[in-house]
Amino acid sequence: MDTMKAMILDRPGAALKLREQPVPRPGPGEVLIAISACGVCRTDLHVVDGDLPDPKLPIIPGHEIVGRIAARADDVTDLAVGSRVGVPWLGATCGICPYCRTDRENLCDRPKFTGYTRDGGFATHALADARYCFALPEAADDAALAPLLCAGLIGWRSYRMAGAADSLGLYGFGAAAHILAPVAVWQGRRVHAFTRAGDEAAQTFARSLGAVWAGASDALPPEPLDAAIIFAPVGALVPAALRAVKKGGRVVCGGIHMSDIPQFPYRLLWEERQILSVANLTRQDAREFLALAPQAGVKTHITRYPLQAANEALADLRDGRLQGAAVLLP
Ligand SMILES: [Zn+2]
Ligand SMILES: [Zn+2]
Repeated sequence: MDTMKAMILDRPGAALKLREQPVPRPGPGEVLIAISACGVCRTDLHVVDGDLPDPKLPIIPGHEIVGRIAARADDVTDLAVGSRVGVPWLGATCGICPYCRTDRENLCDRPKFTGYTRDGGFATHALADARYCFALPEAADDAALAPLLCAGLIGWRSYRMAGAADSLGLYGFGAAAHILAPVAVWQGRRVHAFTRAGDEAAQTFARSLGAVWAGASDALPPEPLDAAIIFAPVGALVPAALRAVKKGGRVVCGGIHMSDIPQFPYRLLWEERQILSVANLTRQDAREFLALAPQAGVKTHITRYPLQAANEALADLRDGRLQGAAVLLP
């Protein structure tokens, strides 16, 4: 029997363990993917640290999968064996709930999430629902593409939710912001990057990607913002961002988990300022963004780790030691 390698989480708070297990066979509607790269996302940290409820256990984390179709179920006809695909966080939806039926599959009542409620990509192989695999260009590098699958896609959804903001704030300059900043600059917007106070490296990185200003997250930018996106999982950034947006401005929370939002005076929200969150992605978001990213000249900055070093990659992300995104190579 063929075997695969995977970095497996047995229980939240534990280190991932490298194990060999049989390569699974695709069930109806599924494909087997031979993984060539998998990005490491902050949501993987939330799964591993136990911030998200009820993961499948044991679970193989990872939801920024790039690989090639190694096998497919008989009923899958549109993805050829050998073709290059990406698998995102949203791994499956029910197709029949009120959200699915109104083009809001990101809010599906019975979803499956890659690397959380179904096994993901910290492995040499993974099964995926064929409807949630996206064709990827042959020319690009596997590892460079991986961060687009979540940081890019959910970042793009957050960006769209921010609306037509000429002056845009990005709070937390990690994987998502480093992909979205060049897109915003390409569209003629002025990007303001907010990082931890004193994080000169992140601020220099943001300026190198076209930010007109970079500073501490509790500082006010040189001009009031039309909108802000918060990518860092820090609730205190919500009142900070409300302070930075102008009348009618919008604050978008782009993460799946955030520390509690501290109490703040109503005047920060007054004058039709808005706070909203972004959940997951739709396949339409993915099609749009994967087509737009090469036009906008998006170039990811990645740090490569061997699959067995998944725990080190997670620790580097947790401790803010990375610029851009971490990617595991099996
Ligand atoms: Zn549904
Ligand atoms: Zn993610």
